[in-house]
Order: sequence, then C-alpha cells, then structure tokens
Amino acid sequence: MNYCALASGSNGNCYYIAKGNDAILIDIGINTKHVLLRMASVGIDPASIKAIFITHEHGDHIRGLSVFAKRYQVPVYITAGSYKGSRLHMPEHLIHIIEPNAKTSIGGLTIYGVPKYHDAKEPCSFIVSDGSINIGIVTDIGKVCDNVKRVIQHSDVLLLESNYDEDMLENGRYSYYLKNRIRGGLGHISNKQALAAFLENKTNRLKHLILGHLSGQNNRVELVQELFEPHCADILLSVATRYQETDLFQVDIPTKKIDVLFRKTSVVYQQTSVIIHES
Ligand SMILES: [Zn+2]
Ligand SMILES: [Zn+2]
Repeated sequence: MNYCALASGSNGNCYYIAKGNDAILIDIGINTKHVLLRMASVGIDPASIKAIFITHEHGDHIRGLSVFAKRYQVPVYITAGSYKGSRLHMPEHLIHIIEPNAKTSIGGLTIYGVPKYHDAKEPCSFIVSDGSINIGIVTDIGKVCDNVKRVIQHSDVLLLESNYDEDMLENGRYSYYLKNRIRGGLGHISNKQALAAFLENKTNRLKHLILGHLSGQNNRVELVQELFEPHCADILLSVATRYQETDLFQVDIPTKKIDVLFRKTSVVYQQTSVIIHES
C-alpha cells in the first residue's frame, strides 16, 4: 500500500491511500489547485482517485471537495450529518451516504468508519485495510475514546492528531471560550494526550507513526518531534504539516517494511528503494 499526507493541520487536511490501481482520499480540506500541485510533487495522478471519504464537515476537511469531486467525477462517501453540516449541494450521483461505523469496499481496499468525539454533526475517523496492512487516520478527536485506542492497536501505519501544546494554548491569545472548546472533550487532543495514547496502545505491528493536524497557533513541529522521538526507536516517525505534502511512502507485504516511493520534489520523480525500517 502507498500513502501520504498531502496536507495536515488546523487549516487543511488531505490524506492519500492506494493499493495498485485503487486509490482514495480521506478529506480534501485544501483547494483543488494545491491538491493537484502536491499530487504532482509525489507522482500521484488525480484521475486515479476512485473515492473520497469525508470525516466531518469542518472547512479544513472539505474546502476542496466540491471542485475536485465534480471535475474528476469522484464518488464521495460521507455521513448524513456531515453532508448536511457541510451545506454543500453536490450532484446526487456523486454522494454516497454512509453510517459513521460503515464498512465500505473500494476495489481491494476496505474502509472502516470509526465514530469519534468532535464538535461536528456526525463525525468519524477511518481505518483503511487491504486485508493485511491497516492504515489508521485519526484526527479531530476530543478525547482518546475506546475507538481511538482500537485504531492505534490495529494500525501498521498510524496518522494521529497531535494538535496543541498545553502551555502554548493556555498562554496564547485565543479567547477563554475557544481554549475550552479545543480542550473540552469535543475539540482536539494535545501533544501530551497523543503521546500517552500512543504509548499505552501501540503494538508490535505499528511501523510508522505520523503526527498530524498540528495547530498553527498553539504548536510547533519541533515540539512534537522532540516529544515523540525518544519513544520511536523501533518505528519510523514523521510529522505531517500544513505547508507541504509528506513523501509518498510504501509499506511492503509481507515484510511490512516502509519504503519511500517518491520523495517530494518539484523537479524529477525518482523511485527510491531506501529501506527506512527493517521489521
Ligand atoms: Zn480539523
Ligand atoms: Zn474538526
């Protein structure tokens, strides 16, 4: 399976997962122009996207949805609540309403919805499986509920929210109301909460941890890196950001080695076979 974060952060999220000719996006919260530029940078053909799964209706998850889905005629899988909350009016034939705990097949991929606590109408996370490798994408979580724990326990590759540094949020310029919305159980989890969730639930099968959905105001990439690095001796650690896409990674079956398939570049795309992790 191949995967990358095309964008991750409080102002835009878009994740790509593929196996063979079956490729999907989870969320599309940056505009289509930037999605296309970032796809080109890691060698993804936008016409290869077979479905878009939406976690919830906040702008940082749906900003580019309408234009991209219509242009490439891509079916959208979304809960009734998220679709209503989005106030989008998409062509009917493109909209597939799913339950937040739905199991959906797209070619060789199975996408499992995972209900979560977040201040949206009917939000869910997703874990994507090819029957052997599981890739969990968990952001916008108010708390580390049993569902989140289960995703961490079953993931070979995990993109986990690490939204804010608790001191930066406390001492920052957000209003008291907004601070409490973020940390009040229906917003986001802090770096410390993400680390605890990771340490308490990771299993031997986890090979690659990507931290994502960092707050622009209340977090820094270096803080997240410094916090997690000492705990990731045996696994690959990445921090996804809003500014650019990550490399396009490939997780191999059955060895579950992680390769960098395409390093992000604006010049030439060269396939590499650098083994980052030996399982
Ligand atoms: Zn978000
Ligand atoms: Zn949200």
